[in-house]
Amino acid sequence: MNQKNRFIIAIILNSLIVVIEIISGLISGSVSLITDAFHNFGDVLALIISLIALLYREKKATLKMTYGYIRSEMMGGFVHSFFLILSMLFIFTESIQRIIKPSTVNSIYMIVIASIAFLINAISAFLIKDKPHLHKDKEAHEDLNIKASFVHLLGDALFSLGVVSGGILMLIFNIQYIDPILSIIFSIIIIAESIDILKKTFLSLMDAAPEQLNKITNQILSHSEIKSIHDIHIIKPSSKDIHFSAHIVLKKALSLEKIENLLEVLRCELASFGITHILFQPETEKYHNSEYLCQSHN
Ligand SMILES: [Zn+2]
Ligand SMILES: [Zn+2]
Ligand SMILES: [Zn+2]
Repeated sequence: MNQKNRFIIAIILNSLIVVIEIISGLISGSVSLITDAFHNFGDVLALIISLIALLYREKKATLKMTYGYIRSEMMGGFVHSFFLILSMLFIFTESIQRIIKPSTVNSIYMIVIASIAFLINAISAFLIKDKPHLHKDKEAHEDLNIKASFVHLLGDALFSLGVVSGGILMLIFNIQYIDPILSIIFSIIIIAESIDILKKTFLSLMDAAPEQLNKITNQILSHSEIKSIHDIHIIKPSSKDIHFSAHIVLKKALSLEKIENLLEVLRCELASFGITHILFQPETEKYHNSEYLCQSHN
């Protein structure tokens, strides 16, 4: 089954939780079930955002969108993790309030519903989990849009587990606070994970360089034909793409054929760093040092 269909199943399953919680909330008159239904409705929307990003990622480049929708993964991951942090902060403060002012809404009813929610969220989480593919540099390239959804669903599964175990412990041993204490711990874990995704997607959207720039320039300069390199740009628009461009100053003027051979060697070498799109401007020293007719060159 492809990633798209697995997301659609996760969305349908999560919509099912919303329906179950609203119906059982109305029947039992439990406010917390209705509140949780709203949370899960937010989950459905967040999953839809990730699905849209996933669908756009597959679109081919056009004359207008010359990169295709290469940044949709980072955009989806950024938006999803941003809202995930907000909803975790909400759960965090809500849990603290429940420790200060305990309410006795926990019932067998609640335990049953939370068990269903746990199963659905756990199944959905492992359904959509990305299997990171490996590049030649042996670095795992995780899709951050999918990861945001995975962390979210896994977190929701943990919260439901907290409600179930907290409810059971309260019913049998009359131990309170288990559910809110677990919720506080889980929300801190999910917030930490989400901040990591938010940071990575933000850096990608802002065209930050992936760290290995020194290694790459050293590799390029190891060729005896190349004197220097400047105007280097390296960006990581998606977890699977790294774009690189640079001007290389040659020690002496070479024939176009020799330059093409050199560029082809460089292309292969840079591919081993995970670079998927390369653009070089070969220059002679004369060109590099001359006064330019067009002032845009630097
Ligand atoms: Zn959620
Ligand atoms: Zn130049
Ligand atoms: Zn190209």
